[in-house]
Parts: sequence; structure tokens; C-alpha cells
Amino acid sequence: MKKAVNKNIKYKRPTWDEYFLKIVDSVGSRATCDKGGSGCVIAQENRIVSTGYIGSLSGLPHCNEVGHDMKSGDCARTIHAEQNAITQALKFGIPLEGATMYCKITPCLACAKMAKSLGVKRIVSEKS
Ligand SMILES: [Zn+2]
Ligand SMILES: [Zn+2]
Repeated sequence: MKKAVNKNIKYKRPTWDEYFLKIVDSVGSRATCDKGGSGCVIAQENRIVSTGYIGSLSGLPHCNEVGHDMKSGDCARTIHAEQNAITQALKFGIPLEGATMYCKITPCLACAKMAKSLGVKRIVSEKS
């Protein structure tokens, strides 16, 4: 019996960085505000330990429903995807020492500093 082999299929396995950046996109699809980076994934030894997306504090209205709350060029209602991912990890006592943070766009200085101070060793972003 001959096995059918489709030689046109070129399957390239993504690297870990590519894999997590794709997940960043899925996480970001839950965002409720389109000002700033949408999604963030934190991985520890190639396992996801926390995720976050840009959005309002829980219980507050969402930008996609009531519009942005712009203050000097930034939306003041939301917290950043990175802040959400970091605080989520802290809330559940997950250590971030040596972790890698994956972001849609290069995180702002405040988020980058917070990540570094918690021991995040690499920050990978899809675009700057
Ligand atoms: Zn907003
Ligand atoms: Zn930030």
C-alpha cells in the first residue's frame, strides 16, 4: 500500500518566542481599550505563569463601551496589559525571578522597571 504524502505541506514549528507572541495576540483580544499594548504573557521555563490585557479596574466601565478617559495623551481608566500580568502573578504568589515577559509592543518604562525589579530577565515584544 502506498501512503499519500503531500509534499506541498511545509510545516515550520514556531520557536518558543514566536509561540508565546501568538498567545499574546489571543490574550490581547480580550482588551477593552485600544490605547497602548493589548496583551502580555509571562512565561517561566517555557510555561505560562501569568497573562494580562489592557482594561479597566474590575467593576469600572469599559472604554469600548463608554469611550476613553484621556488625560495628557494617555487613557487614565485602564491599567496596562503588563501591569495586569504582573499584579496577577503577585496576587497568586507566583515568583517572577528569571521569567520572560512577552508583550505586543515595547512596555512603558514604569512596567519595564516593575518587571525588572521582580526578577524578570527578558522582555520580548512583537514591535517597538
Ligand atoms: Zn481607554
Ligand atoms: Zn506600561
